[in-house]
Amino acid sequence: MSETRNIEALIAQMTLEEKASLCSGADTWHTRGIERLGIPSIMVTDGPHGLRKQQASADILGMFNSVPATCFPSAAGVASSWNRELIRRMGEALGRECQAEDVAVLLGPGANIKRSPLCGRNFEYFSEDPYLSSEMAAHHIMGVQSQGVGSSLKHFAANNQEHRRMTSDSVVDERTLREIYLASFEGAVKQAQPWTVMCAYNKVNGEYASENERLLTDILKEEWGHEGFVVSDWGAVDERARGLAAGLELEMPASLGEGERKIIAAVKDGTLPEAKLDAAVARLLRIVFKAADARRPGASYDAEAHHRLAREVARESMVLLKNEDGILPLAKTGKLAIIGAMAKTPRYQGAGSSQINPTRLDDIYEELAASAGAGTALAYAQGYALDAETPDEALTAEAVSAAAAADVAVLFAGLPKRYESEGFDRTHLRMPANQVALIAAVAAVQPNLVVVLSNGAPVEMPWLGDAKGVLEAYLGGQALGGAIADLLFGDANPSGRLAETFPARLEDNPSYLFFPGEGDRVEYREGIFVGYRYYDKKRIEPLFPFGHGLSYTTFAYSELTFDRQSLSDKETLTVSAVVTNTGDRAGQEVVQLYVRDAHSSVIRPDQELKGFAKLALAPSESQTVTFELDKRSFAYYDADAGEWTVESGDFEILIGRSSRDIALSGSVAVTSTAVRSAAFHRNSTLSELERTEAGAAFVKQLIAALPFASALESEHAEMLKAFMAHMPLRGLLSFSGGKFTEEALTATLRSMNGEEAPR
Ligand code: BGC
Repeated sequence: MSETRNIEALIAQMTLEEKASLCSGADTWHTRGIERLGIPSIMVTDGPHGLRKQQASADILGMFNSVPATCFPSAAGVASSWNRELIRRMGEALGRECQAEDVAVLLGPGANIKRSPLCGRNFEYFSEDPYLSSEMAAHHIMGVQSQGVGSSLKHFAANNQEHRRMTSDSVVDERTLREIYLASFEGAVKQAQPWTVMCAYNKVNGEYASENERLLTDILKEEWGHEGFVVSDWGAVDERARGLAAGLELEMPASLGEGERKIIAAVKDGTLPEAKLDAAVARLLRIVFKAADARRPGASYDAEAHHRLAREVARESMVLLKNEDGILPLAKTGKLAIIGAMAKTPRYQGAGSSQINPTRLDDIYEELAASAGAGTALAYAQGYALDAETPDEALTAEAVSAAAAADVAVLFAGLPKRYESEGFDRTHLRMPANQVALIAAVAAVQPNLVVVLSNGAPVEMPWLGDAKGVLEAYLGGQALGGAIADLLFGDANPSGRLAETFPARLEDNPSYLFFPGEGDRVEYREGIFVGYRYYDKKRIEPLFPFGHGLSYTTFAYSELTFDRQSLSDKETLTVSAVVTNTGDRAGQEVVQLYVRDAHSSVIRPDQELKGFAKLALAPSESQTVTFELDKRSFAYYDADAGEWTVESGDFEILIGRSSRDIALSGSVAVTSTAVRSAAFHRNSTLSELERTEAGAAFVKQLIAALPFASALESEHAEMLKAFMAHMPLRGLLSFSGGKFTEEALTATLRSMNGEEAPR
């Protein structure tokens, strides 16, 4: 049924009204069908890390209840696993749950870049780095779609804050857009072909994403080859007919007839060619039939197995930030004080459209007790009131005495729900004052303090010196308790690595001066220097760098090897290295590969992530890890030429444990094959001319003939060389003592530009 031929035939039988009707939803969660033509209606539902299929009343903000579904860790955590296969398996599980609930498209994942740690929705996004983000998104999508269920990659594009998200205009220069904000989507679209892409609420460079032809058609469909359809974020449509012309096939939720009326009117008055509408309907129907054909009526899933998978994902999503004196893992003996309201009322998911109704929920305290076993005496103290800011004397006193009586205190803290959510941004990175005060009070009586954090995005940690151990648990999903117990007691070895920088202070963040903009105008003035690209270049010491995360074992790196020492930008470079587990526990290492352009004529970051692999190694085991680097690994986006470009020269390949812990490095020479039409002009400089062979010869000859040629050997040499390098050709008219004339200039330009002289 999904053959193009049949779809074309179907469209030919449709009235204009029927075609227009398909381009808006039937209600909040369904597309329209046409019974007489056998076109089904399909259900779409949030996403991303669990299914939010609403029961009776429908709302988009997660306020009403939905059917039970497995709540996996949110993207901030999942990305910290750096584990492509694991996220693919999570996607498969999500797909199975969709099949069981008759859901055709799961709305997610979100591939927006974490521009500022303040964005209220960062818990739902993967990373500050586009390569890591797009790899995670691609594998999420591949997993879901392997089950015959579509994904909706969102929110396309440059939706990096919640403040005024429905009207704000993200003003981003072309290079930054391509290298950072679009790249995060590009890899996922090309690798995984999401059935749908959801356009963002905001404007991008003056035009609503929902009406942005450049984004939706030129880039997404034509350049990247997206075959599915674009759906609006819920309520993102401004002018429906303009959106359709720009490449927005489906408006959601239902516009109750308004959208189709506008489409019909535009076709009738000739402002929207009917062929555009036909093309949109064809894209829609291809996916609708694909989904209908893939339905598995009566499908079910194993909720217990999915809970176990959620625990595995959570274990790999948590990051051991600090482990002084090897305080972790904890012994399963002695006295343990468990402190903090979050141990009993866990913060395990974010608020808003992704908020789901879990099939079950771990009680962290119970999970710790189960893992600790009979040999450990556990005491619990609430320590603080979750809904308050100021410390409570009685709760503090109780926690202090429990901590003092124990061998080790484990304190659960983080951000309460009111601190972060879809819909608004944070204004600071602080934790509630009562939690911070509690950490100080407990540390004063108990030096063996471990803090476990539940939060969707970075917090400042003025208390870091008080805690020997810190485990960043992010929003760990419904099985967070089991995962935390596994990690704290060493039944599992921490293997998460930060997918974002934790700044020491908010003010250090590159977007700080410009976030969240003025009125509706948000200028991304920090440009490509997002996250570690900025902290590295500015030599700013972060609280914890991008890629950081500890393990209970140690890994050694050796034998960095390249399959060639030099290559052209059309060839690939194979890089390999050997990683050895040098400790006494099995563990997983995330091997990170960064590329640095040693000398560049354009402003570039110090290093950029271009490869990563997660290896599981038994004690003493070694494995060889291999990476393939291609043109994109070395390129920057040349906005003038409108293409990815590699500059010839040396590139350093850096391999290590984090962006700030590089273990191996080596250098390769890459040659550009870009053929640039020279198009020299009278204001081209001599150094620009010198980049071509003929130009270099010309400049050499010219300089030798200059009246002050001998001074180039004198003490003034440096100054003169610089002066000449940046001299425009026409400057020679004044400085060549009459040797270089207008005729000579014209002839030189002709010959440099390969033009024939007029006869
Ligand atoms: C959110 C989307 C979500 C949609 C449907 C919007 O408000 O931005 O991420 O998929 O609602 O709930």
